[in-house]
Formats: sequence, structure tokens, C-alpha cells
Amino acid sequence: MQEIVKTQAKNQNSSSSSVKTADILLPLMLNKSYSYQITDNMDLKLGDIVKVNFANKDVMGVVWDISEKKKNAELKLKPIIEKITEIPSFPSNMIKFINWVSKYSMSPLGMVLKMSFGVMAKAKLVNKKTKKPICENPRYREIKLSDAQNLAVFELTQTTGVNGYQTCLLDGVTGSGKTEVYFKILANIIEQNKDAQILVLLPEIALLQQFVTRFEERFGEKPAVWHSGVTPAKKRDTWLLVAKGKIKVVVGARSALFLPFKNLKLIIVDEEHDKSYKQEEGGCIYHARDMAIVRAKIENFPIILASATPALETMVNARAGKYKHIVLKGRYGGAAMPKISVIDMKKNPPATRSCFLTDKVKEKLVENLKNKEQSLLFLNRRGYAPLTICRNCGHRLECPTCSAWLVKHKKYKQLQCHHCGFGIKTPNICPECEEQDTLAFCGPGVERIEEEVRDFLPDANSLILSSDITNSEKKLKEALDKISNQEIDIIIGTQLIAKGHHFPKLTFVGIVDADLGLESGDLRAAESSYQIIQQVAGRAGREKELGQVYLQSYMPNTPVIKSIIAGNRDEFLQIEINARKMAKMPPFGRLASLIIASPKEKLLDDFCNYLASVAPRYEKTVILGPAIAPMAIIRNNHRRRFLIKTDKNINIQTLILNWLARVKKPSQIKLKIDIDPYSFF
Ligand code: ADP
Ligand code: ZN
Repeated sequence: MQEIVKTQAKNQNSSSSSVKTADILLPLMLNKSYSYQITDNMDLKLGDIVKVNFANKDVMGVVWDISEKKKNAELKLKPIIEKITEIPSFPSNMIKFINWVSKYSMSPLGMVLKMSFGVMAKAKLVNKKTKKPICENPRYREIKLSDAQNLAVFELTQTTGVNGYQTCLLDGVTGSGKTEVYFKILANIIEQNKDAQILVLLPEIALLQQFVTRFEERFGEKPAVWHSGVTPAKKRDTWLLVAKGKIKVVVGARSALFLPFKNLKLIIVDEEHDKSYKQEEGGCIYHARDMAIVRAKIENFPIILASATPALETMVNARAGKYKHIVLKGRYGGAAMPKISVIDMKKNPPATRSCFLTDKVKEKLVENLKNKEQSLLFLNRRGYAPLTICRNCGHRLECPTCSAWLVKHKKYKQLQCHHCGFGIKTPNICPECEEQDTLAFCGPGVERIEEEVRDFLPDANSLILSSDITNSEKKLKEALDKISNQEIDIIIGTQLIAKGHHFPKLTFVGIVDADLGLESGDLRAAESSYQIIQQVAGRAGREKELGQVYLQSYMPNTPVIKSIIAGNRDEFLQIEINARKMAKMPPFGRLASLIIASPKEKLLDDFCNYLASVAPRYEKTVILGPAIAPMAIIRNNHRRRFLIKTDKNINIQTLILNWLARVKKPSQIKLKIDIDPYSFF
């Protein structure tokens, strides 16, 4: 690429002995900025937006560096085409932040810029229409906070009231009133500083709608919303208004973290423990909570992490005094926490083999229906059945391009692969032995649970909440409204339902398979399982009625289930913390994964073996692999993994850089680096 730049450039201005040049970063798959010549009449500074010619195309980029270069015969640079004045320049802190994220996550600099600038770079800038203001003047409507909330606000204000970086953990059970606490903090900040901007991050789009409604109730205006589903035109308006400092509050999914706020003064990361904050696809793999903390440090403002089940890493930092720990005990208004009991499935199995709900759960559903109260059945499995097997020959139906079973979906009348989206019409003959009507569907998904509910309670109104069924914002909103209006008696939901939502009439939660989360066996399996069960249980009885939760489990004696029943979160965390400490696992050590994939298996194995043979041998470093990934094939790509584990004080990025510098990767091989990995498949 650099070649093109050099050879095609015309050398202008050959009389003087030096030229002024600018390094321009483009939002493309490039790991560095490229030098262009600044023409005489152009007044440029860092962060300015310019148009340049790159690989024979005009593209917009950002001035990343400015320098003076000695003129010589080799130095032939293309000139910058023009300065774009309609787009505000990148603040210098934003440049620092992007550089930091790229270096830490080992992602190409241009790809990090793309997360921040991509939507603008494509825009035609002739759009001079005046933009409708968004969240320009939110005004807090006072409510009376409880003593506990006031105390939390007071403690938080001690930190957030002064300028300067500090991470605060706002830790309180679901329904303890955390949202109202941070609303008040937010109100104080915008009241004291009329230019202040605030960002609220939520882990999932599904949570944004309810948040917007609540925010509007409290502030009389909707916040600006930012997530992958917002149209590009809307995004460009929002982007510009954010950059000009005209929007006070933005609520968004993780990508909102890369908006170029003019005057950001606070970030709130709600449900901070949520794994959805880890972005695992695309050109940049990063953890939005962790990078939000980095941004707060760079820009020197406070950040609030809120959760009922804080991540283990967060708790370790809070206990070490690095984060300020603010606890809201009990639920707002004194509502009791739900009563949680376990049903031992070995002793009390469901009535027949095609049933998945125990009698106790069914009795409770009947009772609730009679009392006109709502029930929720939670199963974190989309579709109807996770496995299809031939009763005649034992054949299991697998995805043709991934190592994954096909999941039966009744809604789509299909068998689907959840990894690549492959789907076929559910066959009625076995593709292996060709016998008719021998296929059996094994295990439950939410669709099957709903079927079971409908079979034995035909008069109940049931509804499935999963990403297949409520697959648009509109459908989700309709479903949530139906639930609020009590048109629904029984909700059957995946993780979509686990967090944030508030249903006043919900008094019973049945966890269909409390053991499910433990299957993966990865580093955080027990922790995540604890969090999700706790979050779902927290949906029950949030108002007057006492909530009841049943966990169906074949392993009622695991630490996870025992501590949930005992309500002893901190003891559970301590056991997990000790285990991680012993094993020097994060946050007591560092982890990174290399995921290497190729359609050519032999080429892949040769490359991986070579990589292993030149692996660095440092002290306090263990490199495991190459191993066949648990998902051995995705979309016809064979996959191998390395896991790198080091002591905390080792720079794992430098280590990986040095290592990869020793090999030349064939173009048919894809290599992904995942720093602080959360999934290991
Ligand atoms: P959390 O964010 O901890 O789950 P919320 O802030 O959502 O808790 O509060 C739980 C419920 O209690 C919500 O319905 C909320 O409207 C209500 N609530 C919280 N604080 C107050 C308050 N000070 N006055 C009235 N209602 C409140
Ligand atoms: Zn597949």
C-alpha cells in the first residue's frame, strides 16, 4: 500500500528544503497511519478530518500526527485533498484512547478508528439540513429517595462530584434502586456543569427500550440511543451532535463507547458483569467495560459500574480498594427477596420422559394462574430441541459445515445451526439410514417448554421471549407491553429475559435447567451460572407479593446451587477467587488466546506446529497448544487454539508480538488474537 502512495504521488513544492506532512489514519483494516503532504494554504491540526486518496479511492481519515520532513528524492507524498470542516475534529484524548485500545487488544489501529468513525467516513457531507435536537436539556424530576439510596448518592457524590478518575462499584440486589441512584448522580452532574455529557452503557439492545422509557419519565426527554440497529442516517446525526457537545445523555450498547464526546464527564456501565460487553467478532476484540474504565482514566472522569452480581474481577478490585464499593442492601421499599428452593431432579423427575417440568413447578404454575399472578420459566436455549437423533441407526444430525448439532426450530419448521445460520427443512426420513419417521428430538428448548405448558394449561396465555421470536425492537416492545398489561400468564424466556426487566405481577420463576451453565466448563462457568440464576431469580416478586423460585437440578450439591439457596454470594465469590488465585488465573494472571482457522486442514496444522516450535520460552509463561478447538469446524474452517497464560506483571502483548514476528502467515490462514478471553470454544 505504501508503495502506491509513494509512486503515484506528485512531488509538489520542490523548491523548499522541507515539507510539512500529516500522518492520516484511515478507518480501514490497516495497522498504521500514512503520510500525506500538507499543501501550503491548509491549516491542519491533530484530530482534523481530511479527505485523501488511498489506493485510488478518496477516503476520509483523521490527522493522527503532524511533522516536518526533510525533502529528498525518495520522499514523494500525495497531497491531502481537502480538510472537512463540517465534522468536528477528534479530541486529543480520543486519539489517545484509540491508540490505547489498539495496542492493548492488538487490533489494527484502523479498525479501532472504524468503530469510532466508520459511520461518518461513508457519509456524503452535503446534508446541510438542521438536525432535530436530541436530549439537549433533560430535567430531573425529583423523587423521594430512600435513606439507603440517599446514602449511596452521598457516597458516590464524594467521588463523582469532583473532577478526576475513580471507578465506583454500585452493588445492590435487583430491585434495590440502583437505577434511581445513578439517575440522581447523573442529574447532579448535568445540573452543575451545563456542558457535561454522560454515557450509559447497557449490555444488550433488548434492555435499551425499557431504559429509554424510564429515563424519559424521570427527565422529560429521551436520551440519544446508539446500537447496531440504529440506521446510518440517524447515527450520523447523533454522532455529529455528540461531537459538538449538544447531546447530554447517550444510552447505548458497547459500541457507544467509541463516540467522540466533546465533554464526557461520567460513564455508567449497568449490569457490568454481563458477558455481552465482550465483543468477540469483527476487526477488534475488546471488553467494553474494561475499555470504558480506560477511557475514564484517560479523560480523567469518574465511572460507575452497577450490578447485583458483580464480576469476580470487579469484586477483587473493590476489595483491594482500587474501586470504591457502594452497597445498597435489600430491595427498594423493603420488598422481600424471593424464596429460592431447589428441586432434586434425580429424586423428583418429571412425570414422563418427554416432559421437562417437575410436578412441583407445574403445581406452582397452576396456583399462580388461579391467583392471576405471572410466572416465568427460564431456559437458556433457543428453539425446540438441541439434538435430533435417528431411533433406528443412532445418526445425529449435524451441520454440514460446523462441528455442531442442528437445533430443531418449530417456528421456522427447520433444523438450524446456531453457529453459521445454516438451516434445512426438518426431514421425515433419516438422511443416514433412510428410514421413515425415525427421527427423535432430544432435550428441550424454549419452544418445547411452551408446548408442554400449553398441553397441560391450555387456558393460560403463554409467550416466548427469545431472540428468534422477538427478533425486532418492535416485537420485543409489543411482547414486553403485553406482559406489563398482564395479557400474559406464563413467560418462557432465554437470557433475553434475565436482566433489567421489571414485571410487577411476576411472582414465580422456574429455572428449567439450573445445571446448564456449568456444561461449558470454562474459567467463568460457575461464576456466570451463579450470575444468570441470580438475575433471573431477581425477576420474581419485586413488589408486594413474595416471590418464589424453583431451581430444577440434577446436581443440587454444587457450590453454585448451594450458595444461591443460602443467599451467600460473597462466600461463593470467595471460593472462586481462591481457586483463581491458586491457578494464577485472571485477575491474578493474564490470559490470551490465539484462534487460528483455515479451510485447509493440513496447511493449518503445519502452520500451528511451526508456530509452536518457535513459541517463546519465558519465565512465568505457559503456552498451551495447538489444540483442536472445541468448535473444531465453523463454516468449513478448521480451527485450532493456543492459550497463553502469564504472570500479571508480564506484558502479554509484547510477548505475542515477538512470537508472531517469527512466522509468516499464509494468506489462507486467519489468525485472531483474543486478549482476556471469555469464550474458549
Ligand atoms: P435496580 O436498578 O437496583 O434493579 P431500580 O432502580 O430499577 O432497581 O428500582 C426497583 C423498583 O423500585 C423500580 O420499579 C423503581 O421504580 C422503584 N424505585 C426505586 N427507587 C425508588 C424511589 N426512591 N421511589 C419510588 N420508587 C422507587
Ligand atoms: Zn453451521
